[in-house]
Amino acid sequence: MSTERVKCLIIGSGPAGYTASIYASRANLSPVLYEGIQPGGQLTTTTEVENFPGYPQGITGTELMEDLRNQALKFNTDIRSGLVTSADLSERPFKITIDEEKDILADSLIIATGATAKYLGLESEEQYKGQGVSACATCDGFFYRGKDVAVVGGGDTACEEASYLANLCNKVYLIVRRDVLRASKAMQERVMNTPNIEILWQYNTKQITGTPVGGVNGAILVHKDGSERRIDIHGFFLAIGHHPNSEIFSKWVRTNEEGYIITDGKSSRTNVPGVFAAGDVQDNTYRQAITAAGSGCMAALDVERFLSENK
Ligand SMILES: Cc1cc2nc3c(=O)[nH]c(=O)nc-3n(C[C@H](O)[C@H](O)[C@H](O)COP(=O)(O)OP(=O)(O)OC[C@H]3O[C@@H](n4cnc5c(N)ncnc54)[C@H](O)[C@@H]3O)c2cc1C
Repeated sequence: MSTERVKCLIIGSGPAGYTASIYASRANLSPVLYEGIQPGGQLTTTTEVENFPGYPQGITGTELMEDLRNQALKFNTDIRSGLVTSADLSERPFKITIDEEKDILADSLIIATGATAKYLGLESEEQYKGQGVSACATCDGFFYRGKDVAVVGGGDTACEEASYLANLCNKVYLIVRRDVLRASKAMQERVMNTPNIEILWQYNTKQITGTPVGGVNGAILVHKDGSERRIDIHGFFLAIGHHPNSEIFSKWVRTNEEGYIITDGKSSRTNVPGVFAAGDVQDNTYRQAITAAGSGCMAALDVERFLSENK
């Protein structure tokens, strides 16, 4: 197995990883960035992005990530394809294995491996992703203003997303599998007291309907008693959780019960000195491209400080 020593290793090529690499390159840290299985990250799975500052006309997710990549290349970030398959963070330099065939010894590490939204696993859901099916109300809700939409889930996130959409949309159906909400009392009350949110208790989604041109136009739901019901909607929002991509590191780096990496206060520091985390892998609250980019910047600045204090 070949071995290489680097000052700063960045794992992940979403907004967090690329932003970290721009800052780290400009600070002369010669960062090496591994892109992973999804070069460009989650934004490459969406069409229009209208809320990333600096693009008044909006931009597609793929183009935005191409711009970030080009900016990283401009400052000579060493961007490589490859997947981190294991990590030993027991001592510095940290040993990170790529594709089970190469070891990188890193003086500092930025984990920016993101999170993956959970979907129901329906074929129709896959068919209409980006055409009415979304896992992010903050990102895509604006496209459905004045329309009827549905949110799936019964936890705090689902209630928050339903409340957010209720401000934009004509009507919001909240599809809940059980006969209670898992959300906090305050969130439950907010949802119950919002006139344009209707909770559909004990329903599962059987199918999302639509047309290739117009996208989603409805959903077929099945009640616990076996009866079926159709709702007419244009947006179908999943709010059943995310899966942070932290397993490889969780033996060393402290995570919360959902697997999000815990960072120290207003920093990107993990419990392992020299290991930093940025973006959705450590953020179960905001989960936006701009917040991921912001935390990537923080991680690079934290690395710079760490390396100068630990020569
Ligand atoms: C459908 C959709 C639409 C969205 N729309 C918007 C929007 O309009 N505006 C907005 O602000 N946000 C939007 N978001 C949210 C936004 O995409 C995320 O908040 C953001 O991408 C998080 O960035 P990140 O850098 O933390 O991680 P990600 O974008 O999740 O990138 C993670 C990176 O880590 C890499 N990786 C993972 N594991 C490994 C490994 N083992 N080895 C090497 N690399 C690895 C992956 O290949 C990937 O490159 C949307 C999300 C989705 C799913």
